[in-house]
Amino acid sequence: MVEQVVVIGSGPAGWSAAIYAARASLNPLVFEGTPQPDMIPLGQLAFTTEVENYPGFPVGNVRAFIESAVAADRHFNLPPVPKGHVKDGAPHYAVQGVELVELMKQQAINFGTRIVGDDVIDIDVTSRPFKVISRDNPPVETRTVIVATGARANYIGLPSEDRFKNRGVSACAVCDGALPRFRNQPLAVVGGGDSAVEEATYLSKLASKVYLIHRRDQLRASKIMQERALSNPKIEPVWNSVVDECLGDDKQGLTALRLKSTLDGSTRDLPVTGMFVAIGHTPNTAFLNGKLEVNDKGYLRLSRPFRTWTSIEGIFAAGDVADDYYRQAITSAGSGCMAALDAERWLAEHGH
Ligand code: NAP
Repeated sequence: MVEQVVVIGSGPAGWSAAIYAARASLNPLVFEGTPQPDMIPLGQLAFTTEVENYPGFPVGNVRAFIESAVAADRHFNLPPVPKGHVKDGAPHYAVQGVELVELMKQQAINFGTRIVGDDVIDIDVTSRPFKVISRDNPPVETRTVIVATGARANYIGLPSEDRFKNRGVSACAVCDGALPRFRNQPLAVVGGGDSAVEEATYLSKLASKVYLIHRRDQLRASKIMQERALSNPKIEPVWNSVVDECLGDDKQGLTALRLKSTLDGSTRDLPVTGMFVAIGHTPNTAFLNGKLEVNDKGYLRLSRPFRTWTSIEGIFAAGDVADDYYRQAITSAGSGCMAALDAERWLAEHGH
């Protein structure tokens, strides 16, 4: 059997692509991946707690809706209701990352999407149909492919950083910055690029103070964004420093950072309740083994403006794997829709 569309990836881009492809009667097959270090099925959203900026999900009793929409045998995947988020005796909170992607997955399943819980390790593009090769399943022949494998945030790589993920350590200020544990508290942002200064500026509206920790004494960020951050009275740069250890305990989560000078190796402890790591992202393209063109930052290069075409006709890209700029759940979902429409039109033009 030759598939019409294979979708690789199970974040907002992948499920949106599947929903559109399924509704176009293309009977999509989604490879949703298996858990890997720093990468899990459902994408980066699965690392996020509450998602307050996804349109259509204002704070409310989202749990009642989610439990009515998601198949009962997958309820065990749903994270607990956040503590203390109650109104009139019922849960009252913004949809959590895992809940949001589980809803998207359910929507794709409802329209007949088939799912393989396996990792794609290669695509044979030497002939058509393409062959999608996965770790544990036979190769799948397909006329089109939508690559929606996302990107993963780079972390410093300390075991103590891992310990406090979701309890003080985050890689997304826009996603997590407004959570109660960060409000009116001293916070740290690590990095010196546009993302770091942007996150610091964003957090300065919520925090009592933001330390911008950079390993050199000069920022990499664009001049205008540097000036904005450095003239902000709430942002204090901490030059020539790296994070040596995240400090805290199981009850309070992160409480301080041990900083190490890159000049003389001396250390000091900086009390903060949050550390936002903004030291770049890595797109998940290794499995393509260089077969699709990438841009100078390693993200898949889209070959046509405002389209999801890649360097190989019939292979489309959606979401963060081809986006080093917006990186939001809503933009990924939008591009997943675009990729499915592009695949549908490409198939029609080629008589399928
Ligand atoms: P980036 O430009 O690659 O900057 C990464 C920063 O992290 C650098 O300052 C780097 O230090 C530091 N860093 C890297 N590894 C580190 C480590 N292990 N420990 C400590 N520090 C480390 O990444 P980005 O800021 O995410 O930006 C990515 C792209 O998106 C850029 O092209 C940027 O212009 C764009 N962007 C644009 C906007 C905007 O225009 N609004 C916003 C965000 C991002 P060094 O400087 O010493 O190398």
